[in-house]
Amino acid sequence: MTKIPITLPKDLQNNPKSFFCVPQEYFIKVFTSSGTTGKPKKAYLTKGDLNRIAQSGATGAKLLYGITKNDVIRLTFQVGYGTEIWGTRYCLNRAYGDIIGSLIIATDRLPLNEEIEILNEYKPNVFSDVPSRVNYLTKELSKITDLKSLGIEKFLVGAEPIPTPMRDKIEKSWNADVFMGYGINELGLLMAGECEYKNGMHLSETNFFTEVIDPETGDQLEDGETGEIIYTSLDRYGMPLIRYNSHDLGRVIPEICKCGLPLKRLEIKGRTDDILLIGTGDNLHAKKFDDMIFSIPEVVEYQAIIDKKNGMDRITIIAESQIINDKIKKKILTLITNEPKIKDGIESSKTIVKPVIKLVKSGEIDRNSIKIKRVIDNRNLYD
Ligand SMILES: [Zn+2]
Repeated sequence: MTKIPITLPKDLQNNPKSFFCVPQEYFIKVFTSSGTTGKPKKAYLTKGDLNRIAQSGATGAKLLYGITKNDVIRLTFQVGYGTEIWGTRYCLNRAYGDIIGSLIIATDRLPLNEEIEILNEYKPNVFSDVPSRVNYLTKELSKITDLKSLGIEKFLVGAEPIPTPMRDKIEKSWNADVFMGYGINELGLLMAGECEYKNGMHLSETNFFTEVIDPETGDQLEDGETGEIIYTSLDRYGMPLIRYNSHDLGRVIPEICKCGLPLKRLEIKGRTDDILLIGTGDNLHAKKFDDMIFSIPEVVEYQAIIDKKNGMDRITIIAESQIINDKIKKKILTLITNEPKIKDGIESSKTIVKPVIKLVKSGEIDRNSIKIKRVIDNRNLYD
């Protein structure tokens, strides 16, 4: 494999049609990435490709989450852009509805009062959307109803990371399990998911071959070592990708899982392009902000904006909070300024100015895009 060159996202962004392996008339659908990092990436899929994705998604859902035809699944993953349906929603509909035979209640994301009506009328026991939406519903619906009485047993989430404090809060509030799933748009989604042990995501190895490489040298790494994950699709006819660098950072967990499933487990730690150089240039993962800020129970959502002030880096945190007062503001400020890398930039190297914290009411941060972009780096705008 190492003799074959690596495919980069930009190759795909620039000219997706150069990856076609069948004439264009065989394609029936295009999945478009949510574009959290640059120009959207597209996957053209044939009818057979879509059938195989749905089939493997259904197998995964049965094995990992125990989904059966008796389940009622509430699906509110966003519909998509313009005329294109978002791949995640399409795939889950096909896998859980068409193949397993669960009842799917799919709508757009609804206002809270309408959401409650749906939950009461159809009594879904499974709920699927991105973690930030589930978190928002948990905080807001708990004010008007007893969440445990609604009967949701499982949340199937994905498309963005879930900070541990957020997962714990959701599980406790609903008395339910939260399972993370994982997939990359351009590879056809539904690629991996957690089992009951929630310790890494089992990869669908019959559909994908993986390698983990050192981002600097491109050398293959051993299981257990963290690097960039490279995927090769094994059952894609229309537009297969060979040695595709997802720019996701992670590792293969070397031990066999306690659940007994022999499929490899991936631990995703973030993205190469999520690493921030703040202050003196130490690497700080954007995910670190999630862990810090979501440890405060009152916070529903946040955005961290990084820009420049007087030649120094400035971090501004805009946090949606259920309670707005100086105590919460101070809690956030203390957490941020005590992060060793940030603390060093403020106190020793004087490369970071004192962070700015702003609190806003729940619901004020823009949620119109498919995924929340929590960390926004505006510094290149000033170059
Ligand atoms: Zn397992």
